Amino acid sequence: MKISFPIMGNSYIAFKQLIRDIGHEPLMAPMPSARTMTLGTMYSPEFACIPFKILMGTYIEAIEKGTDVIISSGGHGPCRAGYYGILHQRIINDLGYNTKVIVFDSVIRTFGDFVKKISWLLDEGKTGWWRFATVFHVVWDKLMALDEIEILSFHIRPYEINKGETSRVYSKCLEMMDQAENRVRIREARDACFQLLHSIPQDKSREPLKIGVIGEIYVLIEPFANLDMQATLGEMGVFTERGTHLSNWTKDNMFMSRHQSRIITAAKPYLRQMIGGHGINSVAETVLYAQRGFDGVIQLAPFSCIPEIVAKGLMPKISRDAGIPVMTIFLDEQMGKAGMQTRLEAFVDLLQQRRQKRLGGAVSW
Ligand code: SF4
Repeated sequence: MKISFPIMGNSYIAFKQLIRDIGHEPLMAPMPSARTMTLGTMYSPEFACIPFKILMGTYIEAIEKGTDVIISSGGHGPCRAGYYGILHQRIINDLGYNTKVIVFDSVIRTFGDFVKKISWLLDEGKTGWWRFATVFHVVWDKLMALDEIEILSFHIRPYEINKGETSRVYSKCLEMMDQAENRVRIREARDACFQLLHSIPQDKSREPLKIGVIGEIYVLIEPFANLDMQATLGEMGVFTERGTHLSNWTKDNMFMSRHQSRIITAAKPYLRQMIGGHGINSVAETVLYAQRGFDGVIQLAPFSCIPEIVAKGLMPKISRDAGIPVMTIFLDEQMGKAGMQTRLEAFVDLLQQRRQKRLGGAVSW
């Protein structure tokens, strides 16, 4: 069976292997592009959020390449993510395709459903549960290693001497990780990538601004959706960090991790209930970045995303209380790279002036 999946950052490398190793043919949709966006916008409800539209476009492109099944993740709480799967399936059927969309929700909340869906996939691939457990371990290692490599690239980029070198090395690392197929090879590829990234010539005398990046998971992780914002900031000499990566999101979503308890505690003075999506994370992470001495926070919010709108409503108070500037960028299909660049430059200028002022230096406009 040909199986496709959403493209979200570098995770496609791990998903391809998971699907192949449980006996199916992974079908990669093209990387999200202007065509994906056009298709998604054309066939989605006008007010759907941008992740829905990009996924819609990705699914249509995967169907054009001949996929039989699309596997995706769902959502819960007061946010539209819970309806994504059903709505995508209806649109696909209305377009005359019979491709099946299988949505995996939280394992804890829907354990029976999870087991049923996995059993079906394993039966179709003639694979047993034992094999699945082994494959899952390998793929999990790969996902974690991919996230570690990406995080390291964010840490190194603001110090690079030759602009663009980190991005070049990072692309090479993705190829190396793609070729690593067992736990030993994955560990070797990860270590080799760490070495390559550390060997990039750097100017460690720089003291880059530190910006925390918060917001909705899809636009945070997929560079096409956020117009490659973290790499752009890195090349502007800014150190960025984001709390959400696919590996830690999976852990938090599957089990109540220690990190998630910290999030709930940090958000408590401002928000005491789950509001769906990553609203509570956006609130808590802003508080935590301020406590860690970051210079500013950028919130990435899909246009019309309710959880991020609620979080944005709380930002002026958090920003005042914690003394940290926050800029919210709403993303929709109209947003272009030049517009993003201008906003980033303005925010970085502001943070630089603020730092200089704090350190007692002269501020020139
Ligand atoms: S969190 Fe926001 S962007 Fe994501 S599905 Fe929910 S409403 Fe849409």
